[in-house]
Amino acid sequence: MIEIKLKAFIDVLKANNLTKSKLLHGKTRVILDLDSLFMIYSGQEIDVKRQSMNYGGYRYYLYCPNCGEARTSLYWYCEALSCRKCLGFHNRTLNRSKTDCVYYWEQAVKEAQKIVAGYEAKDYLTPDFPDKPKGMHWKTYYKHRAKYYQYWRKGEDLWLSGIKL
Ligand SMILES: [Zn+2]
Repeated sequence: MIEIKLKAFIDVLKANNLTKSKLLHGKTRVILDLDSLFMIYSGQEIDVKRQSMNYGGYRYYLYCPNCGEARTSLYWYCEALSCRKCLGFHNRTLNRSKTDCVYYWEQAVKEAQKIVAGYEAKDYLTPDFPDKPKGMHWKTYYKHRAKYYQYWRKGEDLWLSGIKL
């Protein structure tokens, strides 16, 4: 999961007295144009919102291609861009299928919740399986842990490949 913070890109432009430029985010090609208000991230065009501030200057946002809301950050996953809310870090609003990497990560989280009720994944960047609680059989623990890693890797493979089955 790669976060795209618009401000970080704008800071680079400002530091060079530019309003538009080609940039690199890791190995990803980015074009940001604050005159025409768009960004191209890995070939995907995103509209940029410009808001005038009361005391002068502007604040910029990226429109989420999924829900259309103006956001300060978007996330790159499964070869697509969406906002934090659409990715469902805290809620699960998207209809997900077995072709979606997030589906598998959520299955992994469910396994972790069998170990620690109320377990929540902070993000999907690193696997984060809970320790064995006192009184739980190792056999039970290992069973859920194996499933967790199985799901997590499946999600990661899908995410890395970006291939829809
Ligand atoms: Zn969204």
